[in-house]
Amino acid sequence: MIFIFVLGYCLVILSLEFIINPKSNAPENQPATSNHHLVHWSYGGSRNPSRWGELSEDYILCETGEFQSPIDIPKKILADETAQPINFNYQIIPLTIKNNGHTIQVDYAPGSYMQINGETYQLLQFHFHTPSEHTVDEKAYGMELHLVHQNQAGNFAVVGVLIEEGAENYFLQPLWDHLLEVEGEKNLEKVMINAQSLLPEKREYYRYDGSLTTPPCSEGVKWYLMKTPIEASAEQIEQFMEIYQMNARPVQPLHRRKIHLN
Ligand SMILES: [Zn+2]
Repeated sequence: MIFIFVLGYCLVILSLEFIINPKSNAPENQPATSNHHLVHWSYGGSRNPSRWGELSEDYILCETGEFQSPIDIPKKILADETAQPINFNYQIIPLTIKNNGHTIQVDYAPGSYMQINGETYQLLQFHFHTPSEHTVDEKAYGMELHLVHQNQAGNFAVVGVLIEEGAENYFLQPLWDHLLEVEGEKNLEKVMINAQSLLPEKREYYRYDGSLTTPPCSEGVKWYLMKTPIEASAEQIEQFMEIYQMNARPVQPLHRRKIHLN
């Protein structure tokens, strides 16, 4: 009798827990720890960047991390005398473009890489944000390009390129001709692209230690933000904004980090 009473009591508590705790009622129906790709996040609404850390245990660094990206780059940073240039070696490849629900992304075939300080990082993909995620002297640009690389040890290095509103960018146009308005992917064997053409001519860069700017906000990411922006026309920026009106995480506290200008 006591056993049945206790069992009944437990069942009531369990069902209450299910109703009260939105996590166990999440639309993904996934335990928080199973697969972070399945926990939905966004740039607005109740799953906006200020809430990312609460959405999943896997996203906790979004809230507690002290090496988070993006950041504001203060105007006065002295150039580093021991400057190391980045050696880019990107290949021409057929275009594979996707809308992944958060951005427009171009996947890169193996064989393209950058080298810095004797370390080689393979280019995996590049994608776009609007407005820019990094700001310079608190100023945001129209867009920002992120070239995501990984070395053999699995560490990430991201090259950021600010995109300023100005002249039409002819190198962006082949991508812009194939922007996907809804989630999906296109493989275009006849459209050849080279990520090298999206880099500014001047290759001075800001360097700091940061994170992925999307959940799970993993740290240990080497950031190289190009000092010189590239340009895109107002029409090109608007065309992207018709798909993603805003997909930029706000700037994060610098804490004790140093920013170097190379
Ligand atoms: Zn990005």
